[in-house]
Amino acid sequence: MGRKRKRIVRTKPIPTLPTVFDCPICGTGKSVHIDVDRKINIAVIKCGKCKVQASRPIRPIEERVDVFGDWIDELLADENDNEDSAGSSAID
Ligand SMILES: [Zn+2]
Repeated sequence: MGRKRKRIVRTKPIPTLPTVFDCPICGTGKSVHIDVDRKINIAVIKCGKCKVQASRPIRPIEERVDVFGDWIDELLADENDNEDSAGSSAID
């Protein structure tokens, strides 16, 4: 009969990656939250201010910050597309 030894479990320091981001749509700081569902590898991006919402696939190696970066790239690409088709738009 072996006695159960109490194991001291040391918690590794987890590097803190940003989980909230500045919204590129309404410009509010730290209003964008990204929920990641690792079971289905989907990330849901939501802004608490302007309620913009997007979901996109996430690779297992990716973090929220990567998803956010990809999303921004996509938004910028869309913007460029719109400019091309609609000509010059006067959005301040
Ligand atoms: Zn927003």
